[in-house]
Amino acid sequence: MAGMANSLFDELRACLQWTEADSARLRAVRPRLAPRFAAVADAVYRRLAARPGAAAVLAGGPEQAARIRATLERWLVELFQGPHDEAFFRRHRDVGGAHTQAGLPCYYVLAAMGLMRHELAGLILRVRDADHAATLDALHRVMDLEMALFLESYGEAMTSQIHDTERREMGDRLREAEQLASVGRLAASLAHEIRNPLAGISGAIQVIGQAMAPEDPHREVIEEILKQIRRLDAAVQDLLVYSRPKPPQYDRCRLGAAVLRVVSLLRQEPDVRRVKLTFDGLDAGPEVWLDEAQLQQVVANILLNAAQACTEGQAVEIRIVHDDETASVIIRDTGRGMSPTLAEQAFEPFFTTKAKGTGLGLPICRKIVEAHGGVIHLDSQPGKGTTVTVTFPLRPPAADGCDRAARSEVDE
Ligand code: ADP
Ligand code: MG
Repeated sequence: MAGMANSLFDELRACLQWTEADSARLRAVRPRLAPRFAAVADAVYRRLAARPGAAAVLAGGPEQAARIRATLERWLVELFQGPHDEAFFRRHRDVGGAHTQAGLPCYYVLAAMGLMRHELAGLILRVRDADHAATLDALHRVMDLEMALFLESYGEAMTSQIHDTERREMGDRLREAEQLASVGRLAASLAHEIRNPLAGISGAIQVIGQAMAPEDPHREVIEEILKQIRRLDAAVQDLLVYSRPKPPQYDRCRLGAAVLRVVSLLRQEPDVRRVKLTFDGLDAGPEVWLDEAQLQQVVANILLNAAQACTEGQAVEIRIVHDDETASVIIRDTGRGMSPTLAEQAFEPFFTTKAKGTGLGLPICRKIVEAHGGVIHLDSQPGKGTTVTVTFPLRPPAADGCDRAARSEVDE
């Protein structure tokens, strides 16, 4: 570090042709200028404090103002007194870091330096020493040196700030991935522990149900139990899919036909039966590379959400559009819609406004769609309805696409 500062210092002095004669001139003129330094410091401070962008940093009250003025004045004395050796420049070099830390934008520091140069030049002209042209030269050289050093240290401070941020963000991402991995492991073992006994219970209940007479009033209870078991099983399944997504198994399929297949399965769902379904562009849809089972999950989640947001008889439209590069499934409902805040939260895992929701529908959709190299977009207006657009690339998955999907899999 010291070596670098040393060579930088020498290099700058050589570049600006700074000599000991400059030092001597500034030192000689200092006693006559010094009585005016307080006024210069004051002018510079006032100018800065009047700027809204700097005022926030300088808003520390009269005490801070006095401190800054005193620092500026001291800086001016040093500027003229020297000695302009390496220690002097090393001290002044830290100014950049201090300003970055204080959050003062660098252009204000440069503007302040410019203003000081102007004021000091005015003072030198006013006292008119014998060789004031050379003294002015020395002033410009020392100010140029200060400016170069300031920019150098400012750049360094910025870089280390950026590195700090990057390190922090990387740590956050790592922790998140670790958390997800352990949630995934937990979910997998939990799913195993829950689903197997659940299947056993369900089988036993069905046996009891079959043994009942058709008019037995307890049949309804049996049906209700089976329904709750299916719900529990679906919730466990959601958790499993969300925490341990599988990479897509690509197949070439007609998008419209695939969407129709899942819709015909869902048509019997009570929520879906209540709404008026319409279709557009499903027969002429393009061929795409997709994991059809995963596409079905996506369409099912979005369609169920749409239907659940509607009251009896409201409309849900399923549309497919495409261009040369992408194909989109657009599911638009005329239901209750979402406020902007709600729409923002809708993709958060476990966020739900439903008594029986898992809050994993949309997060699962996003994971699946992104693993396919696609995007999912939600557009909603409270009281008017919601449009969810899922866009897939038409090109076949590249080798690196598979890699990406594999990497996003939370596993070992
Ligand atoms: P869940 O359906 O289990 O609640 P989702 O992730 O599918 O979980 O949806 C999260 C939340 O987003 C829902 O609870 C609901 O408040 C809101 N939402 C999703 N889709 C729609 C829609 N089409 N219209 C209105 N609100 C919706
Ligand atoms: Mg849902």
